[in-house]
Parts: sequence; structure tokens; C-alpha cells
Amino acid sequence: MNDTQSRLRQLPAIDRLLHADSLTALAKTTPHVLLREAAQATLAAAREELRAGGHPDLGIDALARQTALAAAASLLPSLRPVLNASGTLLHTNLGRAPLSKAALAAVAAVGRGYSSLELDLTNGTRGHRDSHVEALLCHLTGAEAATVVNNNAGAVLLALTALAHGREAIVSRGELVEVGGSFRIPEIMASGGVRLVEVGATNKTHPADYAQAIGPETALLLKVHTSNYRIVGFTASVPAAELVELGAAHGLPVLEDLGSGMLLDLTPFGLPQEPTVAATVAAGVDVVTFSGDKLLGGPQAGLIVGKRAAIERLRRHPLMRALRCDKQTLAALEATLRHYLDPLEALREIPTLRMLAATPTELKQRCQRLRRKLAPQIKDRAALTIVPEPATVGGGALPTVELPGFALALQPHAMSVDDLAARLRQRPLPVIGRIRDDRLLLNPRSLFPSEETDLVAALAAALI
Ligand SMILES: *Cc1c(COP(=O)(O)O)cnc(C)c1O
Repeated sequence: MNDTQSRLRQLPAIDRLLHADSLTALAKTTPHVLLREAAQATLAAAREELRAGGHPDLGIDALARQTALAAAASLLPSLRPVLNASGTLLHTNLGRAPLSKAALAAVAAVGRGYSSLELDLTNGTRGHRDSHVEALLCHLTGAEAATVVNNNAGAVLLALTALAHGREAIVSRGELVEVGGSFRIPEIMASGGVRLVEVGATNKTHPADYAQAIGPETALLLKVHTSNYRIVGFTASVPAAELVELGAAHGLPVLEDLGSGMLLDLTPFGLPQEPTVAATVAAGVDVVTFSGDKLLGGPQAGLIVGKRAAIERLRRHPLMRALRCDKQTLAALEATLRHYLDPLEALREIPTLRMLAATPTELKQRCQRLRRKLAPQIKDRAALTIVPEPATVGGGALPTVELPGFALALQPHAMSVDDLAARLRQRPLPVIGRIRDDRLLLNPRSLFPSEETDLVAALAAALI
């Protein structure tokens, strides 16, 4: 018998491991299935390490310790809060926009019990779930009507299907975007049974290109906001107002997918001049779609505003039933939209807008505060510096925009930067930073000031 085989035989049986003193104590607070799975995983890992020629500690105490760690990890929720110090404000992997206090309260209030989701409280008859946000959306965008679905990809699918199924939609070649997560405009069109007619060249499309493509099969003129990339240099695209004019001359509706969609002019915060939803509606576009959880700063949702007749067609389509959103989403959306009734309140209450508006001076002070709190705790285990570092909007919005600011840079002495980042990810409250030039950058712009104490505690623990 070789050495590995004899070592494998030293591994305890699972029941003996589970009867270790420390684990019988843990069994009082941990479901048995989780403890058993943790023990199985620990034994399997030891077996694998042995087969790979390693020398794991096979003592019952060491194995019980590992089992307890694995069991503790399995007790944490899988979907849980993280501290976003990446400097990307709308990180799709981190859940995009954080909700305002009022939006969170609204979610809790309707989630806790029953609600007026589809009940008209005036006369006691059946109501419509859109009713809670339609008037607000119309007020904020100047549209005649509005509806809401699960996300903007769903909004585009619904609008294309309802307005152009079995027929043709004309779109500029420069706007055939892939938004990420394999959401591609041509594929959405295909799945909606819409035939795509591409016009123009990648960098330039003129009104005449659309005009020449219009035929008896044309059902729709489509404009897509190229929110996650830029074609720069020698470019031309057709403004919405001109497409509307062309559409009107041929009796064709115009659909514009704005992607992020802004209700306020955000140029004072360094964002480029882009049409707001209201400006797009004012240009006469029949149906405008945008996300609830990008720059709007609300819950995941696909917002659809426009002309009454077109919105009614969408509302009556069978896909609407499959794409509708739930009561919590509508509650959060209504509360978020209410902030916008007073733009100053929106800037104060909506976390995404507050983060956008933070100034470099403020961000530098926050870095200094973080360093002051952290330095005595980590002593000489890492070098701490403050470096200029921009933040980005993210979520497929405004890729070329850099929001100037600062980050706290950590260079650990006794471990690699990758190890530090991994340790921070695996904490009960994980911390997500960004690695650059062999340093871990923590950008305060995407972090709530109220999270700074937790951040310092996590860093101190990870650097031990
Ligand atoms: C982000 C985006 C979408 C998809 O929106 P989701 O809310 O993520 O479904 C669609 N079109 C454009 C132009 C976008 O930027």
C-alpha cells in the first residue's frame, strides 16, 4: 500500500467527524443537512488534496474546524449586501442602482401585507397596476400615456412585437447595439418576429437612407441610443425629430430605446449633453423605452412612455402579461418617481444622483478620513496612499464619461493584492474594490458614507 492510500485511510468516517465536540455544539444552531454537507465537503477537499500529493492536517480537530467554517459560510444568504468601493455607480453585477429610503420603505410596506395593486379604492372595482405610476411618468416626461414592464429589454421586446410583428422595422446600422448579457437589438427583433432593415453605414446615417428603405412592409422606424459605446470622428445620425417627421409623412410610428434614460439634465455633474426622456417625448417619438435602475436610480424595470394609441397597443398585447412587474417593483418605482417632482429632492434622496454629484474635494476628504481610521488598525501591514482615480457610471451607460475623484490605494506587504481582494470578497459583508498597478483601489464615490466604518473593519480583518 502506498503512502497516499494509507493517508486516505486515516480520514475519519463522516459520522465520527460529526461527533467531534465542537460540531455537536454547533449542531444546536445549524440545520443538520448543512452540517453534514459541510463535513462531506471538508472530507472531499482533504481527499483531493491527498491525491494531488499534498499533506492536509487529518486530525479530527482540524477537520472539525474546517467543517464549522464551511457550515458558517452556508448559513449566510447567497444574495447579500456588498460594499461597492469599485467606483462604478451602476454595476450590473452588483445590482445597479441602490434604492432611496422612501423607495425601500414603500417596498417593505406593500411586501409586508396586502396592497391596492389592482384595486380601484374609489369605487371598489378592479384597477390596473400601471395606475400607480402612469400619472407620475406622464407628468415627468410630458407623455400622454405610460406603462411599465420587468426591465428595458422586455420593454423593447414588447414594443417591437406589438408594433411591428410580421413586418419590417428600419434601424440605422450604427445603432445595432449589444447591451450585454447577450441582449442584441437584431436578436430581440428576430424573437419578436420583426424583420430588420438596416440602413446607412456604421458611422453615418442620413434621413434619405431611412426614406429609401420605406416600403409597403414597413411598420416602424426604430432609433436606439448607443449608450454603451461611442462612434467618434466622422459620424452622423438622424435626430429623433427628423425621424418623427419622416414617420408622419408615411404614417409610421417611431420607437426610441433610450437605454438609461434621464429625467433630469445631468450636465452640471459632468455628464454629456444627452436628450432627456422629456425632450425625446417632445420631439414627437411615439414610444420611448428606458431602464428603471440605470441613471433614474430606481428598481429594475422597463419604463415605456409615449402616445396614448401606441401605449394602448402595447398594453393589450399578450406579452404584457408575461412581462409585467410585481408589487414591490411598482412600490419602489412610484416612490422614486415622486422624488423627481422636486428635482432638488431627487438629487438629495436618490443615491445614484447623490453619488454622481459628489465633488472631487469631498471625495478626497472621505479618502483622508478612511485613511485616518484605517492606519492605526493595520499598522505597517499595508502601504496606504490617496491617488487620483475617476469613477464611471457603468451599467452600459455613458462609457466614455469619467467622473474625477480620488481613491484610497492599498498595497499589502505580506500577501498579494489578488489575495487581499479575494479575502475581502469572501467576508460576510464582502468588499469590492478595483485592482490597478498592483494596488487595491477603494473609491468612495460608490460607497455610502454610512458604510465607511464597516469598510474599515473589513479591511482591518482581511489584513491580519
Ligand atoms: C441597458 C439597455 C437596455 C437593457 O435594459 P435593461 O433594463 O438592462 O433590460 C436596452 N437598450 C439600451 C440602449 C440599454 O442601454
